[in-house]
Amino acid sequence: MCGIVGYIGSNQAAPVLLDGLSKLEYRGYDSAGIAVRDGGSATEIIKEKGKLRVLAEMTDNGKAVKGTCGIGHTRWATHGEPSAVNAHPHSSDDGNVIAVHNGIIENFQEQREKLIKKGYSFKSQTDTEVAVKLIDYYYKKYSQLPVEAIARAMVRIRGSYALCVMFKDYPDQIFCARKDSPMIIGIQNGESYVASDVPAILKYTRNVYYIGNMEIAKLERGNVTFYNIDSEEIEKPLTEIKWDAESAEKGGYEHFMLKEIFEQPKVIRDTINSVVNNGTVHFSEVQLTDEEMQDINQVYIVACGSAYHVGVAVQYVIEELTSLQVRVELASEFRYRKMTLNPKSLVIVISQSGETADTLAALREAKDQGIKTLGIVNVVGSSIAREADNVFYTLAGPEISVATTKAYSCQLVAGYLLALQFAKARNEIDDEKYQALLEDINTIPEKVDRILEDRERVQWYASKLINVSDSFFIGRGIDYAIGMEGSLKLKEISYIHSEAYAAGELKHGPISLIEEGTIVIAVVTQDALTEKTISNMVEVKSRGAKLMAVTTTGKYFLEDTAEFTCYVPKINPLFAGSLAVIPLQLLSYYVSIGKGFDVDKPRNLAKSVTVE
Ligand code: GLU
Repeated sequence: MCGIVGYIGSNQAAPVLLDGLSKLEYRGYDSAGIAVRDGGSATEIIKEKGKLRVLAEMTDNGKAVKGTCGIGHTRWATHGEPSAVNAHPHSSDDGNVIAVHNGIIENFQEQREKLIKKGYSFKSQTDTEVAVKLIDYYYKKYSQLPVEAIARAMVRIRGSYALCVMFKDYPDQIFCARKDSPMIIGIQNGESYVASDVPAILKYTRNVYYIGNMEIAKLERGNVTFYNIDSEEIEKPLTEIKWDAESAEKGGYEHFMLKEIFEQPKVIRDTINSVVNNGTVHFSEVQLTDEEMQDINQVYIVACGSAYHVGVAVQYVIEELTSLQVRVELASEFRYRKMTLNPKSLVIVISQSGETADTLAALREAKDQGIKTLGIVNVVGSSIAREADNVFYTLAGPEISVATTKAYSCQLVAGYLLALQFAKARNEIDDEKYQALLEDINTIPEKVDRILEDRERVQWYASKLINVSDSFFIGRGIDYAIGMEGSLKLKEISYIHSEAYAAGELKHGPISLIEEGTIVIAVVTQDALTEKTISNMVEVKSRGAKLMAVTTTGKYFLEDTAEFTCYVPKINPLFAGSLAVIPLQLLSYYVSIGKGFDVDKPRNLAKSVTVE
C-alpha cells in the first residue's frame, strides 16, 4: 500500500521527495526512506523506522541531502517488521541497483532461494529486496540495459508492484515498472516526477501519464519514454489533472478528516451536478444506455470496507425503486467464490482509489465471465476506471485521511442516482415520483451543511465516550447500513471495540454482551421500521445500555429512550443515510482526537488497499 515518489530535475531532490511523501503518508507510515544521487554514481540512502517526520528531522527536511535525482518511500509493511533495515529503498550489495516498491512479490521465497544459490545475500526480510537483486542479476548477466533487466525480472516475479529503480551506471535516469499497484508519472518544464498518487505531485504539475500494467518507463529531466514488456517503445497520451493543489492541503483545518467532513456539501453537489442537468439525470458520461438498463435483471455490488457499506445502503434503494434483484458482496470473498453470474447482470464495483486489489480482482472475474461492469470510482485513470466497461466518477477530489468520509458520501449519492436512472429507464416509476426523488437528492448538500453547523453537540457527547471500551450500532434497513459505516468509523480511528447489528438480530446473540454502561447507538430514520427499532432500543436500555440516537427532526421523539439524540433534517427515508452518517463521522472524529490519536493515520491501516 505504501507511497512512492521519484524526482529528477534541476532542483534539490530530497525536499521534493519528502514533500511528496508527506502527501502519501495516508498510504503507509511505519517507516520511510529516500535515496538521492548527486550527479555521479554515489547515492545516499537514508531510511528509518517511524513516521516521515523522523526522516524529515534527520535530513533537515531534505535540505541536508544533496542531489537532483532520487526516489522515496513511506512503507506499510507486508513482509518483515517495520524497521530501518526493512524500510525502503533497498539496494544490491554493490549499490548497482537501488529501488522502492509498493505491492507484494508473491513468489519471493522461491526467487530468494535461487538468488542465494547464485551468491546473493539478503539483509532484510522484505520481498522487495528479492526484486532488487533479481534486477541486478539480469542486468549483470545480459545486456546491462536497465529496461531489459527490469523486463526480465518482471517475467519472473508474481504478485503486484509499482517499482522505481535507479542504476549506478545511469545517474540521470529513474526507471519505473508497474503491475496492479498504482503509479503515475508527471512532467513539467524540464522536471519529471513519479508517484503512487496524484496529491504527491499536484503542487508541481498537472500533466500526467498513466503507466499501464506490465509497462516500464524511463524518466529523464523533463522527458519520459515508455516501453512494453518486450522492451519496445510505446506511446502514451498526456492527461491533465483537474484537481486543484489546495484540495490536497489541510487548508486551515487541524486534520484532513475534519476538512474532508466539511467538504461534503460541495463534493456531493459536484457529484450530483456531474450527471444532473435541467432536472434530469443524464448518463452520457457513464455511457450506460436506457436499453442496457432495461436488459439487466440482476445487480451485484462488489466492494470492500466503507464502499461495501455504500453497497448495502444502495441495495435497499435499488430494490425499493426497481424490480431488480441486488446482491452485495465483499470483494475479497467474491473473487474466490465459485459463482456463475447471471449473464444478464451488471457488476458494480465501488472503490475510492480505483486500485483496491480485491475489488479490481472482482471486476476482472466478472469481465472474464462476460458480465457488464460499472465502476464507481474517485480517481480518474485508476485501474478500475480503465478496466470497467462503464465509469461513474465521484467528484470527491483527493481524500487524504485514511478513514473515508467525503468519498463515501459521494459514492452513496452516485448509488442513488444510479438507482433512480434504472427506475426511470425501466419505466418502474412515474415522472412525478422521479422528479420528487431527484429534488430530494438535490437537497442533500444543503442539509449536510445544516448538520455540520450543529457539530458542537456531537463534540460534547463524544467527550463522554472517551473511556468507553465497547459499543454497538443498531438499525434496520438503510439504518443498518449506516450503522455499519458508523461502527467502522468509530473502531478504525478511536480503537473502541464496536459492532454493527441489524436491530432485529440483537436478541439472537449480541444482547448477551450488553451490560451497565455499554454504548448503543441507534440510527432511526426509516418510517416503516421505527417502532421496531425503538423496541430494540428499549430492550438494551433495560439491560443497562447507554443510548445515543440519530433520527429525523420532528418525526420521532426519542429523548425519553436515548441519553443523547442527534437530529438530521427531514428527507425521503431512501436518502436519509446521507444525513444520518454525518453525526456518526463527527462522533468518531471527536472521540479519536479526544483520545489523542493521530486521526488521519490510524494504526495498522492505510488507504488505497492495493494488497490482498
Ligand atoms: N512488500 C513490501 C514491504 O513489505 C512493500 C509493502 C508496501 O507496499 O507498502 O516492504
